Amino acid sequence: MAPVNRRQFNQRMGKGLLGTLALGSLPLNRLMASCSYPQKKLGIALVGLGSYSTYQLAPALQQTQYCRLTGIVTGTPEKAEVWKKKYKLSAEHVYNYENFDHIAANPAIDIVYIVLPNSMHAEYSIRAARAGKHVICEKPMGLNVAECDAIIAACREAGVALGMGYRLHSEPYTQQIKRFVRDKTFGEVRFISADAAYISRGNPNQWRLNKALSGGGALMNMGVYSIQSCIYGSGKNPAAVTAQEFSTRPDYFGETDETITAQFEFPGGTVGQMMTSHNARANRLYGSCDSGWFELQPANNYGPLSGRTSQGPISFPHESQQKLQMDDFARHILEGTPNSAPGEMGRRDMVIVEAIYQSIREGGKRIAIDLPENYGMGG
Ligand code: NAD
Repeated sequence: MAPVNRRQFNQRMGKGLLGTLALGSLPLNRLMASCSYPQKKLGIALVGLGSYSTYQLAPALQQTQYCRLTGIVTGTPEKAEVWKKKYKLSAEHVYNYENFDHIAANPAIDIVYIVLPNSMHAEYSIRAARAGKHVICEKPMGLNVAECDAIIAACREAGVALGMGYRLHSEPYTQQIKRFVRDKTFGEVRFISADAAYISRGNPNQWRLNKALSGGGALMNMGVYSIQSCIYGSGKNPAAVTAQEFSTRPDYFGETDETITAQFEFPGGTVGQMMTSHNARANRLYGSCDSGWFELQPANNYGPLSGRTSQGPISFPHESQQKLQMDDFARHILEGTPNSAPGEMGRRDMVIVEAIYQSIREGGKRIAIDLPENYGMGG
């Protein structure tokens, strides 16, 4: 059972049941630990039934403790039929892009999870918020900072929670790195290096290679993981960046960036470097500290991840990252636990993405990044 405080416990148990319990005969914490209260699972609707929804999120929602699949939004009627059968969804839980806003009237849907091409994140996140639903938005949050601002404002106005699909913040190896940094287990982090890349082949018309739909190439895709790793691996937001772009297959990557490298300066003298590519394989986070080092490799796939430090290997049992992430967000809503990847984190990363593109446009110029010290760090 998840830990709850006395007030939450009382709220859940309700007066009637509490009245019948001999509270004085059992210490409250033992009573709470021995009692399983009826847990309301929050309903999640997936918007966009592409590969991430199909192969990761929907299967994970069969394992989640605090949320479950209660809706789908798709433009393809044949897909809807397959999903209805597979996940036992009746017709009133199936929406398309035209009647999406009717989701407001469906009390079985608490959270809307936007899993669409990047150019559609802002529109559907905002519509979901206006429908009164909590929002999970996939990465990257939008095409630019202005879109992130609009999503955050819409969620604030509607009084709904906003989380990013940053699954690694719920993942145990990543959480261990964050603890190493916070506790200074190896002293101050002096240098951080993060790479996230894969080789893209196949359909040249895919949305990820279409700038209007993706907003950019490798940087808008895997590059977000490199940025994230540099930040949680150093514990700081960068103060400046210098970036370079490399193109070896301009015929294929006509509109979008193929490979990008960038160097970060962090407050206090820590430096970092990142690489992202759609034309190389890389999946690593390395931190060099005053009295040791840590490394994850792989660092950003669906797991299991693998880690080692100057003091030896680290090891955690594997669970679906998506299950952990969606349960974390549901618990944030149900129990007020910290939001591990809030909208501000998505916005912060877009500020950095924009600075990297600006540096490249200006021939590798050093670009100052103006972010408050702990902005977007999450809980
Ligand atoms: P995908 O191409 O497999 O699926 C996209 C879905 O959007 C499809 O169902 C498609 O039919 C639908 N769609 C609606 N309008 C469309 C249009 N105009 N053009 C193209 N498709 C349209 O993509 P995906 O891999 O599922 O990625 C979806 C989102 O999830 C992206 O933002 C991506 O960055 C994110 N993602 C995140 C992770 C993660 O680990 N957090 C992993 C994969 C993808």
